[in-house]
Parts: sequence; C-alpha cells; structure tokens
Amino acid sequence: MIKIIIDNNETKTAEGSSLLQACLDNGIYIPNLCHLNGEDSSSASCRLCFVEIKGQDRPVTSCTVRAEAGMVISTDTPAVRQLQNSAFRLLLSTHRVDCGNCPANKRCELQKIARFLKTDLKVKSLETILKDQEIDETHPILNYYPNRCVLCGRCVMACNRQNDNPVFNFARRGIDTVISLHRGFDSQECARDKCLVCVDICPVSAITLRLET
Ligand code: SF4
Ligand code: SF4
Repeated sequence: MIKIIIDNNETKTAEGSSLLQACLDNGIYIPNLCHLNGEDSSSASCRLCFVEIKGQDRPVTSCTVRAEAGMVISTDTPAVRQLQNSAFRLLLSTHRVDCGNCPANKRCELQKIARFLKTDLKVKSLETILKDQEIDETHPILNYYPNRCVLCGRCVMACNRQNDNPVFNFARRGIDTVISLHRGFDSQECARDKCLVCVDICPVSAITLRLET
C-alpha cells in the first residue's frame, strides 16, 4: 500500500491502482460511467472523472493516472467541476430523458451524477441531438435501447471478460456510434450460463431482459 493525500486527507491505496479506483475505494465519489470495477485500464471515454494533481497545470482523468506515493489530489475544484459539467451536458445531449418510463429510474447513474453535480438532467432543446433509433431486438433474450445508451462501453468490457464469444461491440462512427449485438452468438448462451452481466452493469438500463421492457 502507498499513501496519497485526497482532499487534504491522508489515505492508503494499492500501488498501481488508478486514482479513480483509489478515490472510490476510500469512499470518495467521482462521477464516472466508463470505468468497470476491477479493470486496470479504462477507455476514458466519458470524460467525467477529472481530478487535479498538485504540481500539474490542468485536471486529468483520474481513471488514466496511476496512484504514486505522496501524490496530492483534489477532487472538488472549480476547474474539475467545470469540466465534469461540460462532459455531462454533452453526454445528455444524445440521451432521451424519460425517467418515468425507464426501468433505470431511481437506480440510474445519470440521476446520481446530476444530483452530485447539482445540475438538471434536461438540457436545452437546442443542445440536444436526439435521433429516433429503433430498439434492437435481434438477441434471443435481450433488448438494446440506443436512445438510452450513453456509449460507456461497460457492456463490451464486461461481456469480453466473461465470455469467449462476446455479444457486444461498438459499431459505426462519431455521432452514429451504437452498440451492436453480435449475430453469431449461441442463442441460449446468456440464459444458460445465467450471465446477464451486461444487464447488471449498464448504468442506464439500455440493455434489458426482454420481459422487463
Ligand atoms: S436512463 Fe436515467 S436519466 Fe435516462 S430516462 Fe432512464 S432513469 Fe431517466
Ligand atoms: S448499453 Fe449500457 S453498458 Fe453498454 S455502452 Fe450503452 S450505456 Fe454503456
């Protein structure tokens, strides 16, 4: 274990752990979506987990920096909050907010982040880029809702970790990026193995068991 300072408190963390994991392990919440507990690396795609490190000019994504003994970290500075708010607004610009009809309601990580940042979930209509994308029902037991998906990639990572023949991958590019469901899966594999890690891991219920809606 090594010692680092987080928000003026001395804390211990495992050598080699990311700053994000070090904070979370010590009960300090940092908004994050693309981080998968237990994974060493992260795609840093959600751009939410900024912190400041003493001696560095600008905030860094805490999931991409390894903790080093003696580091001094601040998780709550104006620069950090500004970057987190901008990233969150951008993320919400492509998310259809319809909490009343959503299975994630009350356990949704977007709601948690909005509460933490003291901001609204609804962005101005001028800032939204919503598309009518059809629900993917090609999997035998799962549905995928692209309008809910925040492209965090957790399902891709988790399914890769769990299965030799993973179901999920990213498809298309830029604004059109979606999660695609691999067509070659054994149709009963997920149910037989009682895996369903993707359903558990998705922060916004963009993947559901078909009967759940
Ligand atoms: S994913 Fe969260 S923010 Fe989006 S509609 Fe569902 S509950 Fe609301
Ligand atoms: S389906 Fe869920 S877990 Fe997968 S990328 Fe979209 S939001 Fe993330």
